[in-house]
This record gives sequence, C-alpha cells and structure tokens, in this order.
Amino acid sequence: MARRKKIYEGKAKTLYEGPEPGTLVQYFKDDATANNAEKHGIIEGKGVLNNRLSEFFMTGLGHIGVPTHFIKRLNMREQLIRAVEIIPLEVIVRNYAAGSMAKRLGMEEGTMLPRPIVEFSYKDDALGDPLVPEEYIIALGWASQQDLDDIVALALRVNDFMSGVMYGVGIKLIDFKIEIGRQFDGDFQRLIVADEISPDSCRLWDMETGEKLDKDVFRRDLGNLADAYTEVARRLGVLPNNNAPLGKPTLIN
Ligand code: C5P
Repeated sequence: MARRKKIYEGKAKTLYEGPEPGTLVQYFKDDATANNAEKHGIIEGKGVLNNRLSEFFMTGLGHIGVPTHFIKRLNMREQLIRAVEIIPLEVIVRNYAAGSMAKRLGMEEGTMLPRPIVEFSYKDDALGDPLVPEEYIIALGWASQQDLDDIVALALRVNDFMSGVMYGVGIKLIDFKIEIGRQFDGDFQRLIVADEISPDSCRLWDMETGEKLDKDVFRRDLGNLADAYTEVARRLGVLPNNNAPLGKPTLIN
C-alpha cells in the first residue's frame, strides 16, 4: 500500500490527499504552539479532542445551514474534508475584550463589547498575522467587498451558534478565529467555514468561575491543557468513546 501524499503540514494539523478528487484528510496533531511558534509543546491527546470537537461544531453548523468543509470523521485523529482554496485571512469574532484586543487598547480582559466585533488578520507567520483593515484586503485582491460581506455574515452566524452551544454548558464564548475557504463549482464559488473550530482557536471561560478552558492555559502556563479541553468535551458530551491508544495516521487507500 502506498503512503498517502502529504499536501501541507501546519503547526497543529497535517493535510493529506483525500480518497476522491476535491477531498483531503485532515490529521490533528498533539503539537501546541503559542506566540507565533516561539513556544512549542506536545500535549498528549489534544489532537484527538480537537478532532472530536471540530467535528461536533462543524456538524452542528451544517445542521443550521452554515456550509463547512467537514464531510466525516474517519478515526480518532482524522477527518475527511472538502478541499478549498483558503482565503489568507484569520477571521476573528470578539464578544468580550481579551488577548490582542485588550492589550492593543488597554482594556480589561473580559469587558463585554457593545456588539460582536469581526476583524481580520493577514495569515502570515513570518509577519505575526498582522491585523488588516478591509480596505487592504480589497485593494490587495485577497477578497472582494462581496466576499467580505458574506464572510462577516458567516462569521456572525458561527458566533451565534457557538455562543448558544457554549452558553448551554456554562461557558462564555469570549472570542474565536475561523478560516474561510472558496469552494468552486464550475463558474460559481461559495465560501465555507474551513480549518477547525476547537479550543485551540476559541477563548472559552467558565461562566461561574471565569476559569479558562482554551489554549490560553498553554499560552499563559495556567495548568494542564488536555484537562481543560477534556472538560469542554465532557460538558458537550463529546468524548472519545474508547480508551484505545492515541493512534498514528491511519492509511486509507
Ligand atoms: O490573540 P487574539 O486576541 O487576537 O486572538 C483572538 C482569538 O483568535 C483567540 O480565540 C485565539 O485563540 C484565536 N487565534 C487563533 N489563531 C491565531 C490567532 C488568534 O486561533 N493565529
């Protein structure tokens, strides 16, 4: 059996050629990075949890009519996804000030914003993913005004869904990041939610205690990251349903 072709290796995931044209296999690694990969660690089991959690959120979004790249989960660490052309933007939605916004504006973390704010960063590790105004995005041809309007609408739908799901299990959705891909069908394109949605890319605070249940636990050395993600998965009823050893990539032909 031939080894699969690796298409792309990122910090937390690897993409392999899929079994059919237009598909890819997304493998979730245990690697955690912060501060633009200055800090790196291996958190055993993180990939398994994020695979499950991203499946859970993307499936839920699909059920309310938000298109995503998710097709199906293949095993503990892999999912089959639609191949898309990723728009080179990190689309960030904030409900409360935290992280870079709190720092930039001198705001106290946890301050509720008057309304959700959508912002864009240019996806470029070497530059540290700088914040970019819409004007730049359109002028530089990364996306059109129509694309941006559609992306904001998608991002706000994802925000409503994620906020509601999290509220139901006693968690405040502070902010999150998504990536958007273009899926082509002849002359038409549609914009769909791609990459992943997991505690790696969200800020999640316990509603009662304020305890952080997201990647800030790793970024800020606040405790055990896998325990935090397990707690999110447990509350959502999304836990790996067996205790099999955490596997290596499975070959599918
Ligand atoms: O650091 P900042 O406050 O801008 O992050 C906002 C949100 O976007 C956080 O939930 C963070 O986890 C997420 N993010 C991400 N990947 C990045 C930058 C931010 O998932 N490269």
